[in-house]
Amino acid sequence: MAVYDIVKYPAVILRKKAKTVKDISSYQREFLDNMVETMYNDEVTVGLAAQQVNLDTKLIVIDARDEKGLIKLINPVIKHREGRLVVMEEGCMSLPGVTVNVIRSPKVVIEAKNERGQPINIEAEGFLARVLQHEIDHLNGKLIIDYLNPAKKALLAISYRLKNKSA
Ligand SMILES: [Zn+2]
Repeated sequence: MAVYDIVKYPAVILRKKAKTVKDISSYQREFLDNMVETMYNDEVTVGLAAQQVNLDTKLIVIDARDEKGLIKLINPVIKHREGRLVVMEEGCMSLPGVTVNVIRSPKVVIEAKNERGQPINIEAEGFLARVLQHEIDHLNGKLIIDYLNPAKKALLAISYRLKNKSA
């Protein structure tokens, strides 16, 4: 097992659409395990997408610290959204120091494959639904700052670049 370095905004890979996994091999399983270790390496992190550790492939790991526990998903897609949209402040490991109010569905149904290549469905509500939507956004090259209006986004990008100049 290994802990990967986190790719930070404005790295190009964070804007790429992740590729669909065709054959699930030991490589993907090992990569998922390393993603899990990377996620747990940071106490507050509840999810990670492959692009954040420099691989443009549809893999995510989540642990929303609820009864569903650790979830590893391959090729996840949102099949259904339900309920009145909810706004909540979110952060992201790839955007240190940034929080954004993000509007999301309170209930989702996700279709994906597990590590053994079996199709699975996940029905999620509340915080887990939010984390799933955040990570699936990453696979589509979308970040929390994309939920800001253009003026706010431009300002934030400038201050972020100034703060992270030395990094
Ligand atoms: Zn994120």
